[in-house]
Amino acid sequence: MKFWLKDFKDDNQSVRISEDIDPKALDLDTTVMQFPDVIALDAEAWRAGDELTVQTHLEGERRFTCSKCNEPFNNVFEKDFTLHYDIKGLDSISIEQDVRDELLLELPIRVLCRPDCRGLCDRCGANLNNGPCACAGTGSQQPK
Ligand SMILES: [Zn+2]
Ligand SMILES: [Zn+2]
Repeated sequence: MKFWLKDFKDDNQSVRISEDIDPKALDLDTTVMQFPDVIALDAEAWRAGDELTVQTHLEGERRFTCSKCNEPFNNVFEKDFTLHYDIKGLDSISIEQDVRDELLLELPIRVLCRPDCRGLCDRCGANLNNGPCACAGTGSQQPK
C-alpha cells in the first residue's frame, strides 16, 4: 500500500496499485465486525506539484453479529474515497493507515441481520426469525 514518488514521471501520468489486503496484518477485527477474507484494494494516484491525490477503491466482505438475534451474517461492501497527501521532501507515501481508518470508520454500534429482524424471545431465547416459539413470551403468537 505504498506509492514511490519516483514512479511519477510527470503530472499527468497516474500510478496504480492493486493488492489484496490481509485483515490480520491491519489488525481490523473487532468484537462487532470481522473481515473473514482478504480485502481487494485498487488505488490510483496523481501527482500535482507537492500534492498527491489517491483515488481508492476497496471491496470485500464483513461479518457482523446481529444485535437482536445474535446470529452472525456476512455483508459484502464496496467503498470509494479520495486521499490527499503533502509529499514535499518525501520519497514514498504509505496509504495503509488511512485505508485502515476508512475501514473502521463505519463501525456500527448496532447492526441488524435484516431490517425486520424479529430478535429473540425474551423468555425462552428462541430465534423468532425461525418462526414463533412455544412459550408464552414475546415470541408466542397469542394475543396478550
Ligand atoms: Zn437478527
Ligand atoms: Zn419463547
